[in-house]
Amino acid sequence: MGALAMANVALRHVSKRFGPVEAVRDLSFAINHGELVVLLGPSGAGKTTTLRLVTGLERPDAGSISIDGRDVTRDPPGTRDIAFVFQQYSLYPHLTVYDNLAFPLRSPARRVPEAAIRKRVEHTAELLHIAGKLGNKATRLSGGEMQRVAIGRALVRDPSIHLMDEPLSSLDAKLRAELRLELKRIQVELGATILYVTHDQVEAMTMASRIGVIKDGELLQLGTPREIYENPNSRYVAGRLGTPQINFLPAGLVPEIAMPSGTDTVGIRTEHLQIAAANGGGIVGRVRRIEHLGDQNHVHLEYRGQMLVTLADPHQPLQADQEVELELVDPLYFDAAGRRIAATAH
Ligand code: ATP
Repeated sequence: MGALAMANVALRHVSKRFGPVEAVRDLSFAINHGELVVLLGPSGAGKTTTLRLVTGLERPDAGSISIDGRDVTRDPPGTRDIAFVFQQYSLYPHLTVYDNLAFPLRSPARRVPEAAIRKRVEHTAELLHIAGKLGNKATRLSGGEMQRVAIGRALVRDPSIHLMDEPLSSLDAKLRAELRLELKRIQVELGATILYVTHDQVEAMTMASRIGVIKDGELLQLGTPREIYENPNSRYVAGRLGTPQINFLPAGLVPEIAMPSGTDTVGIRTEHLQIAAANGGGIVGRVRRIEHLGDQNHVHLEYRGQMLVTLADPHQPLQADQEVELELVDPLYFDAAGRRIAATAH
């Protein structure tokens, strides 16, 4: 059993089709206790379908799902020990923040004593920095506060797993940045197990214990943010993470560098590219545009008809139209099918 024995939730060869669309294909992965696994993928990748399969709102066509070691594949949603946070906060508008938070604990089946409910609600409100708003009606809150309450409603419970479907995507950039840090802090503090889906690479990088990159219903790679970033198994995965985006050059354009046989494309992240202001021969490009972002510059370079974007120190004296020498340092190599090829030792 190994890792699976520790798993809170395990999917084994799960597939789901809607007519001609294969929403989820042969999906297998496990989430361990206390882990925050992020499924990262574009619209239509099968993220929400995966969450709905775990909740039981959808039945898989094939494969099985277990929660805490129990096969729940055929169990109805209500019997699975799950809390769900949606993209759009779904609060009860006529209730106070306190009552919204207490609601999940007051279900008749739970019979939690009122004093215990109070303790739990107050603790959760503290964690989310909304303790001062407990008496407010849910409608008398800012968007960010509403989403805190929605997240709080999941966190008051202690389910086997929290499922979160882009819970921060309706917030503005500043709030999103704030809440993703807080959510991570709270998850660690509570030891909560979370399956979180997003198309936002920054959320994935900053929050995940492990990221699963998903596309067309298929899990392409699962690993720590660092593994996925530094060691992508394919061109597609390499392109999912990194700002500015990784550059791809056809291998034929850089005959100067030694590359493993079978290389079709060279993947160049900003840290793989060094720019020397002097034109010393070798690989020579031309600066086309410099975007000033304050603490960093995005430099757009033209190299043999291709555009490359890289980060540069704003103090590096570069100007538009200047010729520069480019040095590639341990870039990534991909074959014609987009699979990663290991670099040959040097
Ligand atoms: P988004 O980020 O846009 O929410 P997603 O990754 O969550 O996308 P899903 O909602 O899981 O993607 O959808 C995966 C695929 O399955 C899509 O092609 C979608 O159109 C299709 N699909 C999902 N639910 C249904 C349904 N009930 N009936 C028919 N097709 C569906």
